[in-house]
Amino acid sequence: MAVINAPRGTRDILPAESWKWAYIVKTASEVMRDFGFREIHLPVFEHTELFSRGVGETTDIVEKEMYTFTDRGGRSITLRPEATAGVMRCALENNLCAQGASAKLWNWGPMFRHERPQKGRYRQFCQIDAECLGLAGPMADVEVIALSLELFRRLGLKNLEVVINSVGCEKCRPVYRQKLVEYFDAHRDSLCETCLDRLGRNPLRILDCKKEGCGAIAEGAPDIFDSLCDECREHFAQVRAGLERLVFTYRLDKRLVRGLDYYTKTAYEILSGDLGAQNAVAGGGRYDNLSSAIGGAKVPGVGFACGLDRVLLVMEEQGCTFGEAPGVSVYVAALDEDSRGAVQVLTYELRKAGISAECDTAGRSFKAQVKAAGACRFACIIGPEERERNSAAVKDMKDGTQENIPLSEAAKYIREKL
Ligand code: ATP
Ligand code: MG
Repeated sequence: MAVINAPRGTRDILPAESWKWAYIVKTASEVMRDFGFREIHLPVFEHTELFSRGVGETTDIVEKEMYTFTDRGGRSITLRPEATAGVMRCALENNLCAQGASAKLWNWGPMFRHERPQKGRYRQFCQIDAECLGLAGPMADVEVIALSLELFRRLGLKNLEVVINSVGCEKCRPVYRQKLVEYFDAHRDSLCETCLDRLGRNPLRILDCKKEGCGAIAEGAPDIFDSLCDECREHFAQVRAGLERLVFTYRLDKRLVRGLDYYTKTAYEILSGDLGAQNAVAGGGRYDNLSSAIGGAKVPGVGFACGLDRVLLVMEEQGCTFGEAPGVSVYVAALDEDSRGAVQVLTYELRKAGISAECDTAGRSFKAQVKAAGACRFACIIGPEERERNSAAVKDMKDGTQENIPLSEAAKYIREKL
């Protein structure tokens, strides 16, 4: 029988990598705490409608990337492709933003998209996500952008670029949309098949097309800044002023769009110079109309999601550190067969004291045990003499010193030297 492998686009995170993941998530949780965001856990599957309405029918995600299936009860279920819609659903369902209250929430976990797998692009990937709900003013946008940048600063990422845009609101975007339709219609011949289709349904997304021909035409497209209403213009000016106050540099990119009716005002991305084609490490923006799109009361929001897998790739590329690599501090070795019991007890006592300790459980020779101890900071050896004295020979592998320590004091002795 053929061996069963993991599905295409998924990968196993093995011990050599998992501690680096844990470091990134721990760092994220500290930054979130410092910015006043609180952690939530959400289901990884939701009703399909949440995403078709919450992410939008005309997005790549909903059109071709969702893992959707009918469950045994006949309901259409989708593995979450992103977190924002679920967070908003959660806030509405649990009344977190009732009577004008606000909620700053973060979460992390797997997302699922049926994409063409390649470096930095998987079908199951992990996102760290932060959403600021119930706050309509520009300072919330600035907080979210600052939060994502602070996360990357603490992780030691370099060579990043912040790209921002405003996509307007339900008042000014229709005007802009009309201008775009007229412009692109005049350049039909240069557009790809997909963009011709977008022309009727969602012309903003043509701006985002990665194809060369469309890109060249999009460069000359009308500028959204000229169409923004006073409110959106002022909001964007405040966001920019806020970023400048915090001394963040950014690039304006009129082609950065979310391309959906419920995304409003600020859109941003953080790009890495060290990722090749999959260069976005985080993306986010404002979505003041999302809550009504999924059937709730009006709750404004702004947030971002960062791709943990990609952040890790960049960190490796740039030689960033991940805190201390996991390792065993103490190896407890038995000089003779009769000492194995005492070794087991000491190992357990050290572990209870919060010191990582290992001993042989495979019946290996003393020589093999000593070899294994070579990878640890301390070696504790118990033989007939030590048993007699209720002690262990504790060798500090760093400075080579060795002392006989009573078993009852071994943990304390090691703790002080660690
Ligand atoms: P891209 O332009 O790379 O397709 P996106 O606009 O679809 O990204 P978002 O929906 O904004 O991405 O998701 C936020 C972040 O999640 C991205 O910036 C990226 O770091 C990460 N991400 C998105 N899709 C994938 C994927 N298939 N595999 C790994 N990471 C991903
Ligand atoms: Mg994508």
